[in-house]
Amino acid sequence: MTDRVAFITGASRGVGAAVARAFNADGMRVALASRSGDDLGLGLGLECDVREPGAVEAAVAATIDEFGRLDVVVANAGVGSYGPFLELDPDDVEAMIDVNLKGTLYTARFTLPHLIESKGDFVSLASVAGLRAFPGEAVYNASKFGMLGFTRALDHELRELGVRVTNIAPGGVATDFAMGSGRTPESVEGMMSAEDVADVVLFTVNQPRNLRMMTVSFRPMNEGSWG
Ligand code: NAP
Repeated sequence: MTDRVAFITGASRGVGAAVARAFNADGMRVALASRSGDDLGLGLGLECDVREPGAVEAAVAATIDEFGRLDVVVANAGVGSYGPFLELDPDDVEAMIDVNLKGTLYTARFTLPHLIESKGDFVSLASVAGLRAFPGEAVYNASKFGMLGFTRALDHELRELGVRVTNIAPGGVATDFAMGSGRTPESVEGMMSAEDVADVVLFTVNQPRNLRMMTVSFRPMNEGSWG
């Protein structure tokens, strides 16, 4: 499995960067897509705003041009803003739907033909907020429930074609994101690390091909089971 090629969105920081590093250390060739296009010294860095379907299409094409195939895709780019629904900045509302949900759809649209060819893995970096509703997270919840629904439905279409689709649904992870509006330094204490999440993603895509992980959810020990 060492000649695989991976395409990761939101790979310049946080969970996406940790996934890119873990995949690279496991022998994969990696394409790192983000608005900044940082390659972190690992492989192919691609400037790509996932809100723009044309940009996603071009980044996937550049990955194929460079590596000739695609085996693992992680739709990870995401943003979050918290607070009562009526108090959310309208731009933040648009961004959560556009980046988290529509960005995942665009990533799938342009990568799945290649994954069908390679019988690969499509992973969406959802959240426990795709499984449970939280106060102050109405639109973030909507975007992540959407990602869960989309990815679960894809499983019906793609399993028989040999493509595995997985939702990774972590609780709190101590990244820049976790400090989004409405959170405090105290509230990220004890959260999981981006590397913890990357370990789970790598474990998921390294399973033998006769099984598929459909939704993998995990939370920090200091985070309750409510919601
Ligand atoms: P992060 O540290 O803020 O990193 C977000 C990444 O997404 C960056 O690489 C950023 O790069 C990229 N990005 C943002 N907007 C983009 C856009 N329009 N197009 C392309 N890339 C974009 O966040 P994170 O904590 O690693 O979050 C990663 C994923 O995990 C998200 O989907 C998030 O919802 C999910 N998640 C996070 C947590 C948590 O507590 N942190 C928990 C559960 C799930 P550029 O700025 O260079 O574009």
